[in-house]
Formats: sequence, structure tokens, C-alpha cells
Amino acid sequence: MLRLQLAGADTLLTSSLCSACPHSAAGCCAAPPRVALSDIARIVAHGGRDWLLAEIAASRLVAAPGHLWLVLPRTVRTMPAAAAPLSACVYLGLMGCTIPHDRRSATCNYYVCEDALAHGGDGEAEARRALDELVASFTRRDAELARDVATAWPEGHAFDAPFLDWLGARA
Ligand code: SF4
Ligand code: SF4
Repeated sequence: MLRLQLAGADTLLTSSLCSACPHSAAGCCAAPPRVALSDIARIVAHGGRDWLLAEIAASRLVAAPGHLWLVLPRTVRTMPAAAAPLSACVYLGLMGCTIPHDRRSATCNYYVCEDALAHGGDGEAEARRALDELVASFTRRDAELARDVATAWPEGHAFDAPFLDWLGARA
């Protein structure tokens, strides 16, 4: 069963299949997505600028040199459904993600795999449409923001307060 809550960039799409993921005891969080420019802008716009700075300082979000996004590092841990320790996103806890939706990458909020879509029943077609539109929209927005960054920060930038404030104003 799929559950879709349409809310633009804050759209949530979840699947009941994920609680018993057929792919990994850590589900999708075994391979966390990047936190892209559009994600960072949205998090700042939701009041998360200081949270981002604290998480970067604590190395739970990592600015990879030469890249325009933040990396979600993985750590090795024991999960109840796993026979052996596994590597997964630093924010994954025993009961799932430990940070709120408005601090996550949009991909964490709307991505579900093909198996989950196929188990979507009556909601499958609408979920597929929403997924396609969100991927296209975020891809377009990240490309626009990358162009803006190149223009406004020709010498490069750090993921510091001035850059985050500048980005948040473009959410
Ligand atoms: S979306 Fe698919 S791969 Fe991801 S947790 Fe759910 S069932 Fe597993
Ligand atoms: S931020 Fe949360 S939902 Fe996203 S990969 Fe990490 S644990 Fe999973």
C-alpha cells in the first residue's frame, strides 16, 4: 500500500512494504541519497540553517570537495532484522530515520522502489506520476541553482552561514 501526501517539494510518498524491505534490513537507507542544492535550500527555508551548520560541524553531513551537494555518511551498525552488522545512513536508528522530514533530502521523502510501486494497488498510477514529476522538477531546480552558484560564487564557496542564507533565499 502506498501513501501519497502531495505538498510540492515537501511531498511524502511511503510504502507499507518498506517496514519489511525485501532488499535490505536497512531499506533504502543502506544507500543514502545526496543532499542536493535544492534540498539544502528547502531545509534552510524551513528554519534549518543552524541545524545544517551543526550537522556539518559534527560530520553527519559532509561537504565533498568539488561537489555542490552534501553527503550523508554511512556507519556500520546492528539492525534487528539483519543477520550481520550492515552499513547504512548515519541518521538511521532502530525505529527508522531519526530526523524529521523537513531536514531530509527530498529523495528520502518521495522515493520508493519499483517493488513498492508494484505493491501500490489503486495508488500506483498516481504515485508513479508524482514520482516522475518530482524527479524532473528537482533535477531542473538543481541545475538552475548550480548555474546561480557558479555566477554568484565564482571563486567557490564553503557550506557556511553566508552561503546557506544565500541558498535558502532561493528555495
Ligand atoms: S522503497 Fe523499496 S528498497 Fe526502499 S525501503 Fe521500501 S521496499 Fe525497500
Ligand atoms: S536521512 Fe533518514 S531517510 Fe534519508 S537515508 Fe538517512 S536515515 Fe534514511
